[in-house]
Parts: sequence; structure tokens; C-alpha cells
Amino acid sequence: MRRPLIAGNWKMHKNVSESIALVLQLKEMVADAKGVEVVVAPPFTALAAVAQVLKGSNILLSAQNSFWEESGAYTGEVSPSMLKDIGCACTIIGHSERRQYFGETNETVNKKLKASIKASLLPIVCIGETLEERETGKTLKVIEEQVRGGLKGLSTAEMEKVVIAYEPVWAIGTGKTATSEQAQEVHLFIRKMVTELFGSKLSESLRILYGGSVKADTIDELMAQKDIDGALVGGASLKADSFARIVKFKT
Ligand code: PEP
Repeated sequence: MRRPLIAGNWKMHKNVSESIALVLQLKEMVADAKGVEVVVAPPFTALAAVAQVLKGSNILLSAQNSFWEESGAYTGEVSPSMLKDIGCACTIIGHSERRQYFGETNETVNKKLKASIKASLLPIVCIGETLEERETGKTLKVIEEQVRGGLKGLSTAEMEKVVIAYEPVWAIGTGKTATSEQAQEVHLFIRKMVTELFGSKLSESLRILYGGSVKADTIDELMAQKDIDGALVGGASLKADSFARIVKFKT
């Protein structure tokens, strides 16, 4: 059985006091959530403060990005071990906004992924096609390239420590959710690819999250799909009540 994981990506929202206020509310609201892993990814500036508030709670802390080197002359970057040091358990890698605005590629995703595993930070690796790619029938080709490129050179033992998030770019922040059938089709494709690359034992245990305008009223149907193991939530994670409802999805 795969343990569902619901992660909230706050993107570039919330200063330190707003972040603390949100997790204080959330902590109470999800304290009784059973059988689900809950993750929040505030901006870098709020991570240390949020880590203090989350101590002893059932919510894990994630960064939204991390670099591939340990330390050195890399102005503006933050390494996985630095994130681990302040209490992060996870990191999001290769979010489509990072691919789109900050030049991230399958190669940089692969380097960041390896570095995060080395630092014992659980990576949530994002993949997904653009609207143009979907409309021109390239979805599965793009996903295949992202899976092969992003996971290149990983051992099965390393792959056990990876979570994948399928996030169709056209559904992120647009209010357009992929239908549960559209999402399931790609999730199954990803799982089959991972079977081919790492074997069926690994692929059966791999958690594949869906992301793209997930809301309190769409989560239940998504989670009812066989190969959807959780969600990466942007907009709806910025309010405690909507995120808590998503965490408490009904199957
Ligand atoms: C995201 O940030 O990964 C995301 C899916 O955002 P939203 O839920 O707002 O579409």
C-alpha cells in the first residue's frame, strides 16, 4: 500500500508572520488526519520559523527548490544539507514554473534530485506537459523524456526515496483541473515507465502525486483513481480550511 501524500506549495506567497499564522491553524485542523503524509512548502524566508511551529506535529516541511552542490561560490542558491539543517524533510524539484522562468531542464532536475537524496531530503520531482504539447499529441512523449532524463543514473535504492508529481502545465493556477481520467492515464504511463526502468516492486511502491488546480471539491475524485497517490496543491494550500479538506480527502 502506498501512503498518500498531500503537499502544499505556497510559491512566493506569505511573509514570516503570515506563514506562522497559516501553519498554526493548519496544525490544529490536520492533527487528526490519519494514514496520510502532510507536507507544506513555504518560501525560503519562512522555513526556519515554520520549522519551529511544526515541531512535534504531523506536518512535514519542504523547500520549493534546492541546488545540486553542497556548498561553494553559488550566489543565491541553497543546498539540500542547509535545508535539512533547518528542519526540512522534503524539497520540490523541477516545478514547471522553475522550468519556465529559471531555465531548469531535465539535466538540472537530475542533478538536484541526486543531491537531495544524498542529503536525505525527500524529493518531489515535478513533470508535466504544456497545453501546446497536449494539443499536438505529445503528452506521453514529453513525459517519457522527463522521466528518463530526470531519473537518469538513479539506483533502485535511490529511486525508493523519490516522489513524482504529475502536473500538466496547462492546469497549474488556471482553474482547469485535468479530468481524473486524463490524470490517471498519465499516472499509469509513468508507473509503467518506472517499471521498465526500475522493476515492478519499485514502481508499485512509487508515489505519484497529481498537481494542477486541485481544490477541496476535486480531490475526492482524483484520489479515487488507482494510480493517484496524493496531490501537490498550489492556490488551495494558502488557506487552512481548503488545504485541510484536501488532506482529509474521502475515498
Ligand atoms: C502547484 O503549484 O504545483 C500547483 C499545482 O498550483 P495550483 O494548485 O494553484 O494549480
